[in-house]
Amino acid sequence: MNSHSPVAALADIQARIATAARAVGRDPADVRLLAVSKTFGPEAISPLLDAGHRLFGENRVQEAQGKWPALLAEHPGAQLHLIGSLQSNKAREAVALFDAIHSLDRPSLAHALADAIQNAGRAPELFVQVNIGNEPQKGGVALETLADFLRQCRTGWSLDVSGLMAIPPADQHPAPYFALLAKLAARHGLAHLSMGMSADFEQAVRLGATHVRVGSALFGGRA
Ligand SMILES: *Cc1c(COP(=O)(O)O)cnc(C)c1O
Repeated sequence: MNSHSPVAALADIQARIATAARAVGRDPADVRLLAVSKTFGPEAISPLLDAGHRLFGENRVQEAQGKWPALLAEHPGAQLHLIGSLQSNKAREAVALFDAIHSLDRPSLAHALADAIQNAGRAPELFVQVNIGNEPQKGGVALETLADFLRQCRTGWSLDVSGLMAIPPADQHPAPYFALLAKLAARHGLAHLSMGMSADFEQAVRLGATHVRVGSALFGGRA
């Protein structure tokens, strides 16, 4: 992976996002690219920051706490999104560090986030993760409880949910799952859709993604 250049890959991926968006009459500016930097260190991340990229995704609170405070101090405009599952006892730390959380998926976490947001006086953007393929091993709200959960978040905890996030089953064609997530977001009046990874982000963009989460296509393979 020594020859892999995240900066060259960034330009290529942004061009592919723009092409996919225009193909369906969308404005490419409505699609944000989250550079998923999990497992990569500052030496891989800094070139993207220096090239002007500002939006990054991490999947673990502790890992992000280790490497991001210094990077954020050097690049004050950078934004960090949490895309991995979040334990309720880390809600306070997550609210302090992240600008968005894509993995809100259960009442206990909603409660912990509401408390943390109130105490911090700072509210990350919130995405509710949906278990779109109904997979027992995966995180996310079950499809049949989504409407109730959203109502609970909004009225029970006064949380301002702005979108939905999902990871389709690994072994299946993702398009029907992306389409379903888009339909659910529209039904619930949610403007943001976090879907699409390295292997399928163009398809996700064509089906309405506002946030694509791209790791290996940018940084190279993970150990
Ligand atoms: C790691 C990760 C990604 C990025 O995956 P790639 O296939 O490397 O692009 C996207 N979303 C989530 C939730 C992840 O954990």
